[in-house]
Amino acid sequence: MNAALERAQSLIRTIPDYPEAGVLFRDITPLLADAAAHRAVIDSMIEPFAGEFDVVAGVEARGFLLAGAIAVAANVGLVPIRKAGKLPRPAAAVSYTLEYGTATIEAHDDMKPGARVLLVDDVLATGGTLVAAHELVSKLGGTVVATSVLMELEALGGRAVVGDVHSVFTA
Ligand code: AMP
Repeated sequence: MNAALERAQSLIRTIPDYPEAGVLFRDITPLLADAAAHRAVIDSMIEPFAGEFDVVAGVEARGFLLAGAIAVAANVGLVPIRKAGKLPRPAAAVSYTLEYGTATIEAHDDMKPGARVLLVDDVLATGGTLVAAHELVSKLGGTVVATSVLMELEALGGRAVVGDVHSVFTA
């Protein structure tokens, strides 16, 4: 890992017991607040897939921050994947199971058929969110060509359900 990425990693703040007891929350806001660190992680999230995708799809909410920067850096379109009830005209929805209860994500139909999609989020934990996002992109007619996250929490086993994921950092 180069010095810029090492520094970026040091800027991820770990907050115990947030949003609930037992969770080690990975707060990326100090990293985003640093221009060089932010740039370094955006470059690293897209570098293996240069030229291979036409659209970036980011999962609400912190995935939006990364997806926006990636869209501009890679000169591709952006399709936001939102939590249920936020979009005026959702074209597709996918529900998935959380530790307690279920969640639903939705997206508009702003993807050309066959679009090559880079799927991004900030943290890969159990993988449920990215599996659902993958299904949502398929419903919209796109093809996920790669999945890229800023941080993978290895102990939670997300890689086993999501499949091939590029993670800038692991913890
Ligand atoms: P999962 O579906 O279990 O892989 O959870 C991933 C989603 O939940 C991502 O959108 C993350 O933003 C969020 N998330 C899960 N665990 C954490 C954590 N420890 N720190 C920060 N965000 C997390």
